[in-house]
Amino acid sequence: MTDQNLLAMNPQELNEYLNEKDIKKFYLIYDDKSSQMTASHPELQPLADFISNDKRDFDNHEGIFVKLSSAYNSLLAVFVHRTDRGQSAGGTRFWHYSTTESFLRDGMRLAKGMTHKNALAGLWWGGGKGIITHDPSIDKTNPDIRTLLYREFGEFITTLRGCYVTAEDVGTNVRDMAEIFSRTRFTTCIPFKFGGSGNPSVPTARGVVSGIEAALNFLNMGEIESKIIAVQGLGNVGRPLIKFLFEKGAKKIIAHDIDTYNYEIAEKEFENENVELKLVDKSDTSIFGMECDIFSPCAVGAILNPETISLLKSRIVCGAANNQLEDPVRDDKLLAEKNVLFVPDFLTNRMGIVNCANEQYGYVNDDPYIEKHLQKDWEYSIYQMAMKVFNQSKETGESPAKAAVKIADELSFIEHPIFGHRGRQIINSLVEDEWHKN
Ligand code: NAD
Repeated sequence: MTDQNLLAMNPQELNEYLNEKDIKKFYLIYDDKSSQMTASHPELQPLADFISNDKRDFDNHEGIFVKLSSAYNSLLAVFVHRTDRGQSAGGTRFWHYSTTESFLRDGMRLAKGMTHKNALAGLWWGGGKGIITHDPSIDKTNPDIRTLLYREFGEFITTLRGCYVTAEDVGTNVRDMAEIFSRTRFTTCIPFKFGGSGNPSVPTARGVVSGIEAALNFLNMGEIESKIIAVQGLGNVGRPLIKFLFEKGAKKIIAHDIDTYNYEIAEKEFENENVELKLVDKSDTSIFGMECDIFSPCAVGAILNPETISLLKSRIVCGAANNQLEDPVRDDKLLAEKNVLFVPDFLTNRMGIVNCANEQYGYVNDDPYIEKHLQKDWEYSIYQMAMKVFNQSKETGESPAKAAVKIADELSFIEHPIFGHRGRQIINSLVEDEWHKN
């Protein structure tokens, strides 16, 4: 079996291959001495070698842990990127992958993204990500199947002894989080009825407002008052965002959605405001070309590409959607060339993780640990961090996204003030105790 073969297999085929070898769990761990990834099983060393040699998504990730689902052809995986600031934290994605390579790349990329998001937010968390691979032959809407998978995932996280703490992500819902919580303490984003923090969309929308205000200030464009903003997506974040923008005196909002239900709610909610709402087809890109001051992507990721960027008429792009650039290097450059100030999404949409990050410390009204992220004066607030990023980008000539990653990287190596680099110690203990055999 060559590395190419393993990487080209889809996760279901990898699952079958591992079963044939009687491998139920495996890990790929970063070895500080050799600066290489090492696999728990010799048969899987080609995967570790592929990762060690990768320049795009691999960034000395501390560990990747994978377990086979006992009932379905799914892989349960945890990607730990960096734990200097604290336990690795990030949501669990339930997603279909056509190859093992795309599964590994996605996990590494998303875990690294969480390191950056958490560090820029000044949270004492490292970065990680969970993935449950979806086997297309099973019905992912079946509640019994989901219950089993998410309970198994919770049990799996427990075995990792706290080097990873999970949360909600694409494909995972509140009910799934309750199933995870029934099997592990290492989770945030638990339902409200179990003491969780509930829906973070409203604080997320407020975070986007902070990002917009910083960008306007940096460009000497004044305040939100009298501005025209185009919003893509009228969902949980898009609608409160529009409400806040009107409260701040926005002149007009243009907003598109593809979903009749959300469109109709928005139509009713903003019937007395100066809005131009449109129900569009998925392939419709007209929102990008609207005459406006700010374009705010609040729908899905990867929407900024050469075609859509060429349509933009705004000076600022700032929204909640994750991973807005289809190709981070190419599209970042294109935006800069077009003189559009891009507010990195992982900076502005942090309130989702901020909202649930400290659930275990309880709740107070107008929680200062949440509110400070939305104020203008705290050094790690969205506003201050955005200004820092823009200024650094101006000084160095790098794009804001690059500057943000650089600042985040530096911050991510600051060790937790009480527990130090404990995540790495936990991983070392797992290896010492032969986690993969138990
Ligand atoms: P949501 O699913 O409630 O709303 C998204 C809306 O976008 C939906 O109404 C959908 O129909 C619409 N949409 C999808 N494709 C579209 C298209 N091509 N054109 C126009 N509209 C389209 O999601 P949300 O919670 O509002 O989150 C919005 C984005 O922000 C997502 O990318 C999400 O990952 C990200 N985000 C959300 C939070 C949060 O707290 N909710 C936190 C961080 C990041």
